[in-house]
Formats: sequence, C-alpha cells, structure tokens
Amino acid sequence: MRKVLLASPRGFCAGVERALKTVDDALKTGPFPVYVLHEIVHNENVVESLRRRGVIFIDDPEEAAGGGTLIFSAHGVSREVEEKAARLKVRVIDAACPIVKSLQRRIEAFEADGCEIILFGKKGHREVEGLLGRVHSTVHVVDSEEALEAFLAAADPAKHYACLSQTTLNADDVARMGRRLQEKLPHLTFAAEVCFATRDRQRAVKELAGQCDVILVVGSEKSSNTRRLCETAAACGVRSCRLSGAEDFEPSMIAGAKRVGITSGASAPEELVRKLLETVEHCPCPD
Ligand code: SF4
Repeated sequence: MRKVLLASPRGFCAGVERALKTVDDALKTGPFPVYVLHEIVHNENVVESLRRRGVIFIDDPEEAAGGGTLIFSAHGVSREVEEKAARLKVRVIDAACPIVKSLQRRIEAFEADGCEIILFGKKGHREVEGLLGRVHSTVHVVDSEEALEAFLAAADPAKHYACLSQTTLNADDVARMGRRLQEKLPHLTFAAEVCFATRDRQRAVKELAGQCDVILVVGSEKSSNTRRLCETAAACGVRSCRLSGAEDFEPSMIAGAKRVGITSGASAPEELVRKLLETVEHCPCPD
C-alpha cells in the first residue's frame, strides 16, 4: 500500500498572498485596465488565471502610458522602473514583498556607508535585477561556490564589504558560502539570509526526505524557490520530480516508491497540490 505525505509548510508564502490580494483588489476598484509589470509571481497557472480576469502583463512601464493601474510584481523593481512609472498618468501600486523591500533598503544603506557589496543570487532573476537597480556602485553577484572562490581570489581583505542574499536560495548554500567569506574577509558585514518562507519550506522537505522514497515538487520551472526544494531533496539523497501540476504527472515518477512526499513552491496554489494528491492516490501503478 502506497502512502502519500504532504510537506508542511508548503505553497503560498505571505509575500505571494499579499501580491495576489493587491491584484485582486485592483481588479475590483480599478482604474482600468489593470497592468502587472512582469509575472506577479513565478507561476504560469496564477498568471493565466489573472489574464483570464483581465490583467494585462507587460514588460515595460511605458506600455501602461494610456492610464489605468500599474502593479509591480512581488520581486521588486529598480529605481529606474519606479521613476519611469511615476512619470506616467497611471495609478502605481508596488506589490513587492515587504522582505524584498527591506532588502532593497539594506543594499542602499550599505552603498551609502561606502561598503563594497556582495550579493548571493542569480543574475537575471527579477529580485536580483531589482536589487542591482537600487544602487549605482558595482555589486559582486555570486551564484556558486566557484564564483565565490573567483571573487575571493581578487578581493582585498583590507576593504569593508557587505554581503546580502536573494531570498530564495538554498539556505545551506548561503550559510556555507557565508562562513567562507567570513574566514577570508575581516571587515565583512554579513547580512545574507534567505527569507523565513524559503527556509521553512526547505526544512519541511528535509523532514519529508527522512520518510519518503520520492518527493514530488509542484511549482514552475521559473520559480527559484521551487528548484531549491528539488535540490534540498537531492542533498538528502532522495529523488525528486518537479511538476507544474497534475497534468505533468507520470506513473514512472513514483515507480517502486512505498512513500511519496508532495510539496510545493511559494508561488504554487494549493489547488494544484490537491489535484496532484488525488492523481497520485488513484495511480494504478503496481507497488
Ligand atoms: S519567498 Fe520570501 S521574499 Fe519571496 S515573496 Fe515569499 S516571503 Fe517574500
């Protein structure tokens, strides 16, 4: 008999809930049309359902120049984007997660203090691009242990550095890379940490990994925190499969598994988990 276990916590974090409520409220009050700059959160199901309700997703604030409401996504935006939007005749709402906003204030403060800034994160991710766009100075973006060693080889230990992190990285990677930086840079202000939602979902996967043969992770390919959940399972020696939803499920994913774990990224709706749970429970594949 196959057993299915659900991770706790999983799914929507407070920042995603808040961003989606912001869009929902704007759809009730206007002014219309309602534009969202980039995907409000990294989940295609969420984006599609909002599109069906009339939301227009755009990549440049200028596309909202005709008026209406313009909402910034949960990942935060650069100063340039804020300034561009402020010049338009449009109601602007910033749906950035308060944790990201606080990170933006910190990177600005570190620059004002004259620190050289190190940012653990992936170039091209919206949150990282938003953070880079808050400061004028060059930021050392470090996305791997190899990149960290390359940075350290050229770093000047006499300088004052400050280190921050994208909120959705692997918590263990951030801690390990942080220890390495602290060993090498005596004048380092270390403020890098993932957000509580990322950390708690990774902890829940570790707990699940101790009880399961395979873990199914619901979330978008684009979602950083979803990919980190798969990596967390792998680091615990447990196979994982990422799925956008039940439609991606293949019986081979759980072949031979007596205990199947299910979790979901911070931008994946619970409804997708419930559908997957039902599909797995009714899967006729032999145990
Ligand atoms: S993952 Fe963390 S930082 Fe990102 S929206 Fe959720 S709570 Fe905020």
